[in-house]
Amino acid sequence: MKLSNRLQLILDHIPQGSRLADIGSDHALLPTAAVETGTCVSAIAGEVNKGPYQAAYKQIQEAGLTETVSVRLGDGLDVLKSGEVDVITISGMGGGLIASILDRGVEKLNGVSRLVLQPNVGEDILRKWLLAHHWVLINEHIMEEDGKIYEVLIAVPSEQEGIEITNEALYAERTLDGGLVLSTDWLLRMGPWLIKRPNPIFHAKWKSEINKLNSILRSLSKSELASAEEKSAHIRADIKKIEEVLACLPKDKL
Ligand code: SAM
Repeated sequence: MKLSNRLQLILDHIPQGSRLADIGSDHALLPTAAVETGTCVSAIAGEVNKGPYQAAYKQIQEAGLTETVSVRLGDGLDVLKSGEVDVITISGMGGGLIASILDRGVEKLNGVSRLVLQPNVGEDILRKWLLAHHWVLINEHIMEEDGKIYEVLIAVPSEQEGIEITNEALYAERTLDGGLVLSTDWLLRMGPWLIKRPNPIFHAKWKSEINKLNSILRSLSKSELASAEEKSAHIRADIKKIEEVLACLPKDKL
């Protein structure tokens, strides 16, 4: 089965021999590929909505994987028993929703050794959740497919042996080559690993953010609300900072 590049990138970060839970699995393409390629010994496809649950169920039946992939209907991590899986993937939703799924099922994360998360928006919310709950972001990627930009975040529990980085080091205030200081808040927003290895897609994402902020500025300039000027000043400062960061980063790394 040929996965999209986005789902393939997620699959590439699941360790060999894992027991996987893919939450919000929809068509169950990821669990199917994870088991068919031999990456995972078993998988659970979790879905809260009946339509996608049925699509997942049909997919697993047709692929002949009912022995190794269990399709379950339920909200978030409710579909899991404690200790049942090593890796959880959650992809194709907003970062806020992914964070709330993790938050509501936090006790089910005991024994899970890796999270591979792909928020469509709100990556900063997810990085903050991981930091607050002692998950170390060991890597992150940014990619483009069909005109959309996606980020993939990989995290492990901070007590896991052999991790070469700590959250303290990852999010410590950093001075970029041009002398620009990046606070923890900006690292959470832009991505501590993405900033270390900025590729052209990272630049494109933040240029597009600047365009969105400029369009908000144009709307605010027509507003007569007293708060509009304060909001505009905040947005102008944001744009200036993003432009300064982009100017300090190399542009040609892949
Ligand atoms: N994960 C697949 C992917 O990345 O291609 C499907 C993404 S699809 C856009 C999001 C799926 O998440 C939908 O099928 C939706 O029903 C499911 N979903 C949303 N909230 C959920 C929750 N709380 N628990 C389980 N599934 C959820």
